[in-house]
Amino acid sequence: MTDRYAVFGNPIGHSKSPRIHALFAAQTGQDISYQAVLAEKDGFAAAVGAFIAAGEGPARGANVTLPFKEEAFRLATRRTARAEAAGAVNTLSFEQDVMIGDNTDGAGLVRDLKHNLGCDPAGRRILLLGAGGAARGVILPLLLERPAELLIANRTEETAARLALEFARLPACAGEPRPDGTGFAGLAGRQFDLVINATSAGLSGASLPLPPCVFGPRCVAYEMVYGRETAFMAQARGAGARVADGLGMLVEQAAEAFFIWRGVRPRTAPVLAALRSSS
Ligand code: NAP
Repeated sequence: MTDRYAVFGNPIGHSKSPRIHALFAAQTGQDISYQAVLAEKDGFAAAVGAFIAAGEGPARGANVTLPFKEEAFRLATRRTARAEAAGAVNTLSFEQDVMIGDNTDGAGLVRDLKHNLGCDPAGRRILLLGAGGAARGVILPLLLERPAELLIANRTEETAARLALEFARLPACAGEPRPDGTGFAGLAGRQFDLVINATSAGLSGASLPLPPCVFGPRCVAYEMVYGRETAFMAQARGAGARVADGLGMLVEQAAEAFFIWRGVRPRTAPVLAALRSSS
């Protein structure tokens, strides 16, 4: 019997996850099926329940995308430390009566930085732009890499300050660099080695009020959005930074989920290359 997996979201038609997991399965010889499920905005738990109940083979797990990551967090009967820190779940594993919730977004970002881009966060001055779900998901994994500094800057300053304080108090972050929070105005005269855009500004075409000095010498600028050239990417390029988009993070977070489910770590480079050549 083929083990079944799915990704739940709304909308979901654009999702690259079915293709990514099909490529992982073919590469590693794993017998799985993986489908995209459009859940009603108020019907996430019901859709997961229906997926588990129906079908030929056993349902083993699911990925969760917008807008259901917080609901998946509540639905999980057990959660990993990184899911607890993120307050959101993007990977569910179904084991008998237990539903384990994990969050692989941060691990995906760190792996993309270290293994695909040769940009180890250790010892770097990191600026994280945004204080929404995506930012929250990557703070703990970034702190565990021991950067020299992690500053969270957000349009709404108090959200950044609250988020920084929350992580500074987290027992899992004891001994790690203490994150700080600011508004964009607080970036004047500041310089960083790695600038990560976790805002959704790129989706609306909006640019961020960043002083060019934030992109320090040999700075890497990481845009979590993928599939388009955003204003942030243009700003960073103009300031001389090396620019990357979020497609690598997407593939790496999927690989981490695949590893959790199957115990096999797929090679991501050929999958990333396949996606890039067809986009
Ligand atoms: P979210 O929870 O809605 O948060 C949005 C964030 O963007 C907030 O901090 C918000 O600031 C800020 N923002 C929105 N418009 C802005 C603008 N015009 N100027 C300045 N700041 C603005 O969204 P999210 O879930 O964190 O997702 C953020 C982005 O990450 C999305 O584009 C998503 O596609 C991407 N993402 C990519 C991956 C990947 O695998 N590559 C994974 C996860 C997320 P305020 O607090 O002031 O409103």
